[in-house]
Amino acid sequence: MTMRPYYTDPYTVVFDANVIELKESEGKHAAILDSTYFYPTSGGQEHDTGFINGIPVVDVLEENDNIVHILAEKAEKGKAHCNIDWSRRFSNMQQHTGQHILSAAFENLFNISTVSSRLGENAGTIDLSRQPSEEEIQKAVAEANRIVREDREVAVHFADQQNIGSFNLRKPPKVEGTVRIIDVKDFDLSPCGGTHCTHASEVGFILTGDTEKVKGSLTRIGFYCGDRAISHYYRLHNSARDSARGLSTFVDEMPTAIEKLKSQLQEKDTRIKSLSERVLNSKCDELKPQIEKASGSLTVVDLTDDTVDANELRFVASCISRVVRKSFAFHRIDSNICQMNLNLLMSEEDANAVLNDLRNKCGVKGGGRNGFYSINFERARFDEVMEALRGRLTNE
Ligand SMILES: [Zn+2]
Repeated sequence: MTMRPYYTDPYTVVFDANVIELKESEGKHAAILDSTYFYPTSGGQEHDTGFINGIPVVDVLEENDNIVHILAEKAEKGKAHCNIDWSRRFSNMQQHTGQHILSAAFENLFNISTVSSRLGENAGTIDLSRQPSEEEIQKAVAEANRIVREDREVAVHFADQQNIGSFNLRKPPKVEGTVRIIDVKDFDLSPCGGTHCTHASEVGFILTGDTEKVKGSLTRIGFYCGDRAISHYYRLHNSARDSARGLSTFVDEMPTAIEKLKSQLQEKDTRIKSLSERVLNSKCDELKPQIEKASGSLTVVDLTDDTVDANELRFVASCISRVVRKSFAFHRIDSNICQMNLNLLMSEEDANAVLNDLRNKCGVKGGGRNGFYSINFERARFDEVMEALRGRLTNE
């Protein structure tokens, strides 16, 4: 059983211990110490990183009563000089302590309980028993920051099954036997095995982020403490500033600027629609006589260099197919794909057979009905498709 002095001293990050067992865990080198300050991933908190005798500790796991340090290289048994990445550890302590305080604020003020929590690499999250209003969130955050500002003492107690009843815990413990309790003075008592600050002011500042509905009725809310809160603020600030610059306005004026932009876009859309209708009508007028006059079983028109795009091409072909009784193919080539709209003047059964033929022999994709088809195929197979089409149409 590994001793865990981090339970009562989360600030020691340079220490000496002994490697008492070497093993492999999922194909990686691992070591067990007689006593360790390395925190293993558990209870929603990420593991510490650092070094054992200069060898990087890349992961820390809990296996039964032991703590297993996953190493980048093989270690040796015996004396071990260890150090833990303090900035990662301290950030976790800030997030974890902040989480207790924020959860207790929701509970104490609004009877909203925290069902589960995660600290994560960036934002931490808590899952709340119901959706708080914007006002409730702001009040809970203000209350949590008041506790931070007052620098409440954060103590650790150990309780056994006999005296656990004397603690008014915010939630029941998940472990049996001895229970570790985190006590934010006169504010919160929670069972927890993680690393926490000993004074609330070390949390620095608590901010909340996005909310989302999870698992049916729960609300997940992101939170940031200490330096993470500052980084989060600047990420938002920079993004808002750049967006405002893009709109040639100030951050506070952005909602109005966006509304204005939306209505301008809508006006332009309407204008574009009416203009493109005119273009398409004149395109139909231009193509109609060309198809009517053409001889042969199939008139093929290449519209690659035309102004109409693939969707408009389909629209024009469909309009003409309604007024001209002839088989024709309009196509355009975009990079390596040929888009084609086919009007086949034959029974639907025959037309479907032609299309199946094209699918099977020439790798044609797409479909349609009543003799009108929108298809596409590789540009290199154009001649092949034409040959197959003409062959079928001459046989009619
Ligand atoms: Zn905790």
